[in-house]
Amino acid sequence: MSATWTIRGVQEALASKKISAQEFASDYYKRIEARNPELNAYLALSQDRAFAQAERVDAWVAAGKPLPPLAGVPIAVKDVISTRGVRTTCGSKILENYIPPYDATAVQRLEAAGAVILGKTNCDEFAMGSSNENSAYGPVRNPEVPGRVPGGSSGGSAAAVAAGLAVASLGTDTGGSIRQPGSFCGIPAMMPSYGRVSRYGLIAFASSLDRIGPFATNVRDVATVMQIIAGRDANDSTSTTAPVPDYCAEAEKPVKGLRIGVPKEYFGAGMDPEVRKKIEAGIELYRKLGCEVREIRMPHTDYAIAVYYIIATAEASSNLARYDGVRYGLRMDGDSLLSMYRKTRGAGFGAEVKRRIVLGTYVLSAGYYDAYYLKGQKVRALIAQDFRDAFTKVDAIVTPTSPVPAFKLGERTDDPLQMYLADIYTVTGSLAGVPGISVPCGKICGKLPVGLQIFGPPFGEGRVLQLARAFEQAGGAAL
Ligand code: GLN
Repeated sequence: MSATWTIRGVQEALASKKISAQEFASDYYKRIEARNPELNAYLALSQDRAFAQAERVDAWVAAGKPLPPLAGVPIAVKDVISTRGVRTTCGSKILENYIPPYDATAVQRLEAAGAVILGKTNCDEFAMGSSNENSAYGPVRNPEVPGRVPGGSSGGSAAAVAAGLAVASLGTDTGGSIRQPGSFCGIPAMMPSYGRVSRYGLIAFASSLDRIGPFATNVRDVATVMQIIAGRDANDSTSTTAPVPDYCAEAEKPVKGLRIGVPKEYFGAGMDPEVRKKIEAGIELYRKLGCEVREIRMPHTDYAIAVYYIIATAEASSNLARYDGVRYGLRMDGDSLLSMYRKTRGAGFGAEVKRRIVLGTYVLSAGYYDAYYLKGQKVRALIAQDFRDAFTKVDAIVTPTSPVPAFKLGERTDDPLQMYLADIYTVTGSLAGVPGISVPCGKICGKLPVGLQIFGPPFGEGRVLQLARAFEQAGGAAL
C-alpha cells in the first residue's frame, strides 16, 4: 500500500473496490504498531469501533450505495475529545481510567460521514503546552526530525498524520495547539473561528478560546474535514447558526487580486532569521500569484502572550475545579474531605497544570481580579479590534506560525516563559476568535519544517482555505 493516502485517494480506492475499508483499517493499525512505540503519538486504539465502522462502509460499497465524504477514511482524535467507550485521558493521570459515556459532536459527525476512528492521540496535559512534553504519558517525537518535539499541545495528532499513521486527525487549539504542531511537523492544520465547530464533548481547558480543528496532509483534506465538523449544534450554545459554506469549492477559487496584510509586529526580536527568510519567500509567492501585499500595523500584538496567560489560566482554574475525586477520575482517599481533595489533585495533576491553576486562581482572586483578569479582558478587546481594523483594509493576514522551528526534546522544559513564547504569533488570533491555518512553507536546511500562518476574518474559513490551497499548489512547501 502507498505510504500516504489522501481522502480522495481513499474514496477512489474504495469506490473502485481496489481496497476495502477493513483493509485500510488493518493497514493503518499495522503502521501504528510499527511506528508508535518510537513516536508515542497514540495513547489508545479503538480497534473494535474502527472495524465495526469499516464493516459498515464495506457493506455500503457492496450494496452500491453512494458513499459519504469520509467513508473508510482512517482518522485520529486528540485525547481531550470525548469518545464513547474509548478511554479519554487528556494526557493526565487524573483521567487515567476515564471512559466517556458519549461522543463529542465532532467525532459523532465524522463517524456519520463514514470516518473510521483509529484511536486517541497524545497531547500535553489538558492541552497545556507547546511541545507535548507535558503529557503524563511521555512526550511525542517529531516524525520529520529525530530528537525534536512535534509541537503541542496537539503533538500526537500532528505526528500521527505526518508519519502516515492516520489520513487526517482532530486537534484542539486554545492558543496555537493546532497551528504550531502543524508547522513543526510540516502539514497543514486549521483552527476554525470560535463558534464554527461545536465544543460539545471537548474537555474544557479555557472555554472562551478552545476550538476543535483538523490536521491533514493537504489543504483540500483540511477543507473536507472542516465541512463535516462545522455547523450549529444544539448541545453547544456558543456554536453559530451561520450557514456552512462549501469549503472545498471555496478552497479552489483563484487568489489573484486578494489583499494580504503583513503585520510588522510579527517579525520582531526572537524570530529565527531562517524562519524569516522562508516567510518572506512565502509572501513573495503570494505576490507572484497576483495578490496585493500590504504592510499593516497591529499595535496590541505585544500584549497577547501576557493577556492569554491571564485569561487562559483563569478559565482553566475554574474548569479544572471539577476534578475533585468525587465526580469522576482519580480519587485518593484521605482522612478528611480536604485531604482527599489535596491528595487527589496533588497526585493527579502534573506540574504545568498546577502552575496554571495557581496562576488562574490568583488572577481571579478578590484583590487582583480588577488588576489582572479585568484588565486582561480589556486588552483582549483591543487585540480583537486590531484584527477588525486590519480586515477593513485587507482580505487576510499572513505571518509566521512560530518564531522558531521544532526545538529539541528537553530544550525548553525548564523555562516556562520560553515555552510560552512559542505561541507568540498564534495566541493573538485565539484571543480575537478569528480562523487561522498553518501551511508548510519550506524547510530550514532541508529538514526543519516552517509554517506560514494565514488569518481570516471571523467565519472567513473559506478565504483562509483558498489562500492556503493556492499556496500549496504553487509549491509553498518546497520554498
Ligand atoms: N501552548 C499554549 C498553552 O500552553 C496553547 C495551548 C493550546 O492551544 N491548547 O496554553
